[in-house]
Amino acid sequence: MFKIAIDGPAGAGKSTIAKALAKTLNIEYIDTGAMYRAITLKALRKGIDLDDDNAYGFLDDTVLDIANGHVYMDGEDVSTAIRTVEVTENASAPARIAKVRTFLVDYQRKISESKSVVMDGRDIGTVVLPRAELKIYLDASVECRARRRMLEREQSGIFKSLEDTMNEITTRDFKDSTRKISPLKCAEDAIVVDSSKMSIDEVVNKIIFYVNERGLIK
Ligand code: C5P
Repeated sequence: MFKIAIDGPAGAGKSTIAKALAKTLNIEYIDTGAMYRAITLKALRKGIDLDDDNAYGFLDDTVLDIANGHVYMDGEDVSTAIRTVEVTENASAPARIAKVRTFLVDYQRKISESKSVVMDGRDIGTVVLPRAELKIYLDASVECRARRRMLEREQSGIFKSLEDTMNEITTRDFKDSTRKISPLKCAEDAIVVDSSKMSIDEVVNKIIFYVNERGLIK
């Protein structure tokens, strides 16, 4: 059994890479960003003040479930609803709240306890799985990340300019890396991979190289 942690800024391709890696290694992929997004969606629907620490009492009766690549919140499949621009732009706010992080980190540790996983997020190598056998910090230039995000969105009919997308990404990175609890940062023992000039396959192959080098596949 082994754990692979993939952290990095917004739009670095973490989920695409983590998904492909999990498929190649035949292990489970856990998308922690999707969980913060699901809580953000519920908070937006409830119309709470996202910055109010005391407004997250609803977590006590929130049930999250990740199955077959889908995200369920209180029994509803929210996989598409959590990808809107509104949820994306607001997700950094609940992610700063201690109650939200404790709730999700507990859940993330629990579901990865007894199996090999690839988990991606912002604090996986530093907080959630500090003893992960392999930690990758996936980075790319802001422009490159914005262009990838635009392409991804265009497929679902969402159009935003390069400038606006770059601003959105820079703002989110700033919020995620300057927050008090579990900020986005590269773990000391993580391997930095800059994917700006690499294809998906190249990045996956590079990570597989480290998996083999560490003897994780028996
Ligand atoms: O990775 P994704 O863009 O889906 O993450 C959405 C937001 O969730 C991030 O901008 C960040 O604020 C938060 N997040 C986090 N810790 C994680 C994963 C995501 O704070 N492990």
